[in-house]
Amino acid sequence: MKFRNFKMVDYVVYGNGCFDQLDEILAPKRNGDAPMIFFVDMYFQDKKDFLSRVPLRGKDKIVVIDVTDEPKTKYVDQIRDELKAEFGQVSGIIGIGGGSVMDMAKAVALMMTNPGSSADYQGWDLVKLPGVYKVGIPTISGTGAEVSRTCVLTGPTRKLGMNSDFTPFDQIVLDPSLTKTVEPNQRFYTAMDCFIHCVESLTGTYLNAFSQSYGEKAQELCEEIFLDKDQWDDDADEKLMMASYAGGMSIAYSQVGVAHAVSYGLAYLLGTKHGIGNCIVFDKLEEFYPEGVEKFKRMVKKHNITIPQGITKGLTDEQFDIMINVSLGMAPLWENALGKDWKTIMTAERLRKLYERL
Ligand code: NAD
Ligand code: ZN
Repeated sequence: MKFRNFKMVDYVVYGNGCFDQLDEILAPKRNGDAPMIFFVDMYFQDKKDFLSRVPLRGKDKIVVIDVTDEPKTKYVDQIRDELKAEFGQVSGIIGIGGGSVMDMAKAVALMMTNPGSSADYQGWDLVKLPGVYKVGIPTISGTGAEVSRTCVLTGPTRKLGMNSDFTPFDQIVLDPSLTKTVEPNQRFYTAMDCFIHCVESLTGTYLNAFSQSYGEKAQELCEEIFLDKDQWDDDADEKLMMASYAGGMSIAYSQVGVAHAVSYGLAYLLGTKHGIGNCIVFDKLEEFYPEGVEKFKRMVKKHNITIPQGITKGLTDEQFDIMINVSLGMAPLWENALGKDWKTIMTAERLRKLYERL
């Protein structure tokens, strides 16, 4: 048995308003006049009050990140090329946004030092050089991207992360007040990514006490927020940010499961986004996760959330096959969910039937 020895985030600051400590945090990380580059989610591009709090010094620059689509390797390479052309080298990259912006920040920070295209590094432990200093600042909670050792990218041939010990952030800034403005449906979809991480980790065959401790706490927080509370408040934002963190820690030492494996197929073929895609799939997984799905359905109802239906209607056999192949390619996820004999349990025919119900 070989135990995973995983790299974690180096520094964590938590609390409402801690974003304003960023200037002080960055000061010792500045190399001469090489700038800090702030990747900011497009939601904030016209929010002057927020932008004025970004601690720009010298040649520092704000780069607005377009999150219409989930991050692509082409977009990573393009921004890297632009930054290199403009500045040569930078002191660091700070990603301020959701999973999309945080993943862009991780990827570009790595690609400032590693040669070639980010598509060359989609996989496990292909990144050979540490990137530049990088900071993650979530403005929506749920993905766990703030603590993970991957950044998920859609490349020319696959959707796969740059998983490596160089990928985790050097610093994260967890300021729940930054998440106040998230629209309720979006907040729910991304929060359910966390809830689903917990269910998949806690019911999986890879579970150990390390994962369980984080997973149980994160799931309990999600239930408290979405089932026990009758009104969204600051306390909910605070707890959801910690749920995301703990949910991410839980899967660091285990794996996700069926919902993620199936939703990757949707993302690849239809471009369905991670949070909503997981919800669309999880909604139909009562046979795998009876308790989790029952709670999920109660949360959906209580919060009046719409889960899209019929999204695979009218797809061709070839298209179903593409999704099935992408999904069955995620062996560790299936093994975690269904055990070593997963191939006899989740056949292509059974998966096709599941896709047809989405
Ligand atoms: P997102 O980053 O795509 O953002 C969702 C929406 O919320 C966007 O429209 C954005 O503009 C908006 N938004 C963000 N902050 C806001 C705020 N404070 N106020 C108002 N609107 C705000 O969504 P996400 O669900 O956080 O991230 C999904 C991405 O994360 C996917 O690309 C997925 O692949 C990736 N992901 C990565 C990991 C990882 O470990 N690296 C894990 C899970 C998911
Ligand atoms: Zn996820």
